[in-house]
Amino acid sequence: DGLTAFRGEPLADFTIADMRAAFPAAIAAVHAKAGRVIPLSIGGKTIETADRIPTVNPANPDEVLANVCQAGISEVDAAIAAAKAAFGPWRDKTPRERAEVLLKAAAIARREIVALSAVQVLEVGKQWDQAYNDVGEAIDFLEYYAREAVRIGTPRRMGREPGEKNHLFYEGKGVAAVIAPWNFPLAISLGMASAAIVTGNTVVFKPSSLASLIGHGLVDIFKEAGLPDGVFNFCPGRGSVMGDYLVEHPAISTIAFTGSMDVGLRIIEKAAKVHPGQDYCKRVIAEMGGKNAIIVDDDADLDEAVLGVAYSAFGFQGQKCSACSRVIVVDSIYERFTARLKEACESMKIGPAEDPANAMGPVVDASQQAKVREYAALARQEGKILVERGLDAKGYFAPMVVVEGIRPEHRLAQEEIFGPVLSVMRAKSFDEAIEWAMSTRYALTGAVYSRSPRHLEKARKEFRVGNLYLNRNSVGAMVARQPFGGSKMSGVGSKAGGPDYLLQFVDPRVVTENT
Ligand code: NAD
Repeated sequence: DGLTAFRGEPLADFTIADMRAAFPAAIAAVHAKAGRVIPLSIGGKTIETADRIPTVNPANPDEVLANVCQAGISEVDAAIAAAKAAFGPWRDKTPRERAEVLLKAAAIARREIVALSAVQVLEVGKQWDQAYNDVGEAIDFLEYYAREAVRIGTPRRMGREPGEKNHLFYEGKGVAAVIAPWNFPLAISLGMASAAIVTGNTVVFKPSSLASLIGHGLVDIFKEAGLPDGVFNFCPGRGSVMGDYLVEHPAISTIAFTGSMDVGLRIIEKAAKVHPGQDYCKRVIAEMGGKNAIIVDDDADLDEAVLGVAYSAFGFQGQKCSACSRVIVVDSIYERFTARLKEACESMKIGPAEDPANAMGPVVDASQQAKVREYAALARQEGKILVERGLDAKGYFAPMVVVEGIRPEHRLAQEEIFGPVLSVMRAKSFDEAIEWAMSTRYALTGAVYSRSPRHLEKARKEFRVGNLYLNRNSVGAMVARQPFGGSKMSGVGSKAGGPDYLLQFVDPRVVTENT
């Protein structure tokens, strides 16, 4: 097919002087443009609405980075109409033609990688390296799905009966609603949107209001890549005003959602109801939350385990679906591990993500901040505080909390917090640790630090999560190497960045010809 084999983008490496030097300038450029209006983009046209939501810098909420126009019902109608009109011709292009657009988009994102990272540093408070790696992941999705679309795009001959020819092939379904979270604001948005687009669907994209400036980056990327008007429509809006309307709209055939369990379940329920004029049974891909555990066995390499747990729990302030929120430590190593974990946590610098010396920054908004504070208070009731560190500064800084004495029946062991709160659980044996790891209704990520082949084997079989990591941290899944996604209440999708993902966006068809 003339395509080179997929290779992932290199991760951020600030020993490279140019990369290090590029960030301050790119961040300054985002500051300089603060306050502009971000319009919708529907059918290739720019549309401004009167309802706007400011998107702010969480380290300094007085700084309004942009005022983002919000779609109401009529703009959703217009976006869906534009997507519907663009669908036929786009579906009928060859997979290779569609893949070319993704490859161009990847090249554009690669050229703009530092600029796109800088927006994340300011809009959601991501550390430099994490922002860079998010953009790298976005590029990986484009490159990988382009190749996957070509791979599955060739009709497959089925069976060898004489006198008959059977061909199985895949076709885009129609208009997809892509509804994204704020935490991997470019990677997840571009991943879901590009998967829908490359398989021949057209898209109405709703970014999170907390990351709409980053979301708007998709408009520029797809435009420059030559995507026809109407194939991608940028439609930020209030979940409360247009969320249900978009999901329930009879012209939507697919909903690709990543976000919280509550919203995901609501979407699944709403999408199940058939409305007048609807001729598609809607498919929902919902990637939802987690309550991820890392097990530290009695023979674990503590140098690795301490760093892995601290990074998984507090990188990007714990606001990753894959973040570690429970560490389950086997009794005999408990005191040694927790003493070192405490030291590691106390040594992490807290402050704005703009300064790369800071390992932990602000949480994304006031309501996340309030939520973390509530869980910090609950931690004092349910367990014993091992570490609690805050930053008395303007901005949505929330305390880093490590709490011990947590057991499976505690709320802290069950509820997704999505912030820098880590529960430490002391298990009497490795078997009990596995049992506790499995004691929530989520099943997204998990990790085990152990030197025992027997224990690792047991974990492989019984630690039933979507992505399990043995002797490493639980975050940072790589496209094509660690296809990502969970089961149970963590989701009903099949693995972003993996070989089954695109099949969720297509109708398989078979044509049989008597010859
Ligand atoms: P969220 O559920 O609050 O919002 C996600 C999106 O849904 C946003 O765009 C929001 O505006 C929209 N929305 C809200 N109400 C809606 C409605 N009624 N109809 C349609 N859309 C609606 O989630 P969030 O706070 O943006 O993201 C954090 C959550 O996402 C966490 O639970 C995290 O675990 C999860 N997450 C999961 C994965 C994964 O791959 N499994 C990845 C990243 C984040």
